[in-house]
Amino acid sequence: MKLARAARIILIGAPGVGKGTQSERLLKAFPQLSAISSGDLLRANVKQRTPLGLHAEQIIKKGDLVPDAMILRLVLEELKGRRWIFPDSKPQPYNLNFSASTQPDDSKMDIAEMMDLPSIVSSYANPSTCDKPDSSFILDGFPRTASQAEILDNLVPINMVIHLDTPFSVIMDRIAGRWVHAPSGRSYNTTFNAPQVAGLDDVTGEKLTKRADDDEATWVKRLEVFREQSEPLLEHYAKKGTLWSVKGESSDEITPQLVEEFARRFAAA
Ligand code: AMP
Repeated sequence: MKLARAARIILIGAPGVGKGTQSERLLKAFPQLSAISSGDLLRANVKQRTPLGLHAEQIIKKGDLVPDAMILRLVLEELKGRRWIFPDSKPQPYNLNFSASTQPDDSKMDIAEMMDLPSIVSSYANPSTCDKPDSSFILDGFPRTASQAEILDNLVPINMVIHLDTPFSVIMDRIAGRWVHAPSGRSYNTTFNAPQVAGLDDVTGEKLTKRADDDEATWVKRLEVFREQSEPLLEHYAKKGTLWSVKGESSDEITPQLVEEFARRFAAA
């Protein structure tokens, strides 16, 4: 489906809710959309051993949040590189072939400079945005906190915030049912994609195991951290009137509602 105007979307959902799945499906239904994930931007920097990546690596490993200025800089540079926002308020020809690897060279910037929030905010003061439908994006993972949302509010006009709302008990059941065949990476779920013989891989007949990060206590903690961070974030967007929540117990239950609402708001007639 074609879009009539630029959609600037934030996607919020607990770990394990299927944000990646919904993003993929929206991109398939609306090819003018792009997905930008703050976690992916950070991981690309870690992989490329950039100064920012080296600094972020330890923080990510511990499961903590990287400083606001760091993540804000990455997301804004990505949008600027794609010619979707213009810090100097002068729209330029936009470029679809941009990727994180073409981000400006920050090798000469020191860490203190990279983490200086006032300087990054002032260097992007009053940006203008590209309004062509091809500049539509879904932001996944950013903003993560109400303070990040407040900073973003003054820089980029977000026009829809999607909250994927699945009960935590359903997410926990799904995780508990997840089994993998470690050598091949094949994964199963005892509720909706069970192996032919319980506990064994369909192809090799070898034993299935749990993923190391599917430990129940770890997941309870991840969901609790999400609840703490997301409540003020959701409240923030509810007050602004941009929040739209969709309830569902599975990705297949959520997708049709999401595509319908998205089309109603953004698709060309
Ligand atoms: P994700 O792939 O979204 O789970 O992100 C992986 C890691 O990157 C997180 O655990 C954080 O350490 C970091 N990260 C991603 N997005 C943000 C953000 N908006 N603010 C701070 N840290 C972030």
